[in-house]
Amino acid sequence: MTHELTFKTTMHFAYDEPAPVSPGIVRIVAENPSPLTFKGTNTYLVGMTELAVIDPGPANEHHLAAIMKAAAGRPIRQIFVTHAHRDHVDGADALKAATGAEILGFGREAFAPVGPETTPQGSEFIDYVFTPDVKLAHGDVVDEKEWRLQALHTPGHAPDHLCFALLGRGVVFSGDHVMAWNTTLVAPPEGNMADYVDSLSLLLPRSDSVFLPGHGGRLDDPQRTVRAYLLHRRWREEQVLDAIRGGVGTIQSIVPVIYPTIDRKLSSAAALSVQAHVEHLIARGLVTCDGSPTWDRPLSLA
Ligand SMILES: [Zn+2]
Repeated sequence: MTHELTFKTTMHFAYDEPAPVSPGIVRIVAENPSPLTFKGTNTYLVGMTELAVIDPGPANEHHLAAIMKAAAGRPIRQIFVTHAHRDHVDGADALKAATGAEILGFGREAFAPVGPETTPQGSEFIDYVFTPDVKLAHGDVVDEKEWRLQALHTPGHAPDHLCFALLGRGVVFSGDHVMAWNTTLVAPPEGNMADYVDSLSLLLPRSDSVFLPGHGGRLDDPQRTVRAYLLHRRWREEQVLDAIRGGVGTIQSIVPVIYPTIDRKLSSAAALSVQAHVEHLIARGLVTCDGSPTWDRPLSLA
């Protein structure tokens, strides 16, 4: 039995053109496409007369100009940040300077830099000194006349990741935690598989009707997707266990077994994903390794 997922990889948009996605919500896609950001980062504007921005996106003057144009003179009061990865947060300072808005997010300083600051592709991707004006914790609600947003701490892709539930509307801004175009990257040390699984489980009992993700198009059946992603991770974990049981004893050798057709550009991301599974299996006492599980250190069943 396989649990290969089907993804929604069509997306109708034009870069930096505002598009309504739900009443009182407009999406603007930044032009920073890549294998990990899909078509680019989604910035959302929430509200009718006064606006909040969810994820200002990368530092890019065209994108900033597009946000200001879409606001059309309406004040932007808040800038919410889902997580301090550069494709989401780097535009915050310029947008704040242009609008006077306050920046809200989990904050990053609680998580000291623990690993390389670069993606598997080699570019910088974490703003380790991101300090919002207002720190949000799990469950915090920001209450405005036209909307109420609740922060949901959802680590896994990033330790500081927040989703934002638009209360009373059945809409969740799901950031990079749950997307329709692909599953998120869980790459240690930034990513943590146990956290990711817990953060998926957190969303499961909710009854939202739409997720608006940080990349790609909307999810119209979010609970079903969350359930499928949980099953998919369990299936991947079984594959990792099977490989180790069959004598494929290092992360390096497991990668081609469970990702036989992986694009070379993504093979180091795949290796990190396997590492995340291995760490999760070790933490639960199912696999052992003499030391931390590096690329070529032997693994065995516990
Ligand atoms: Zn992202």
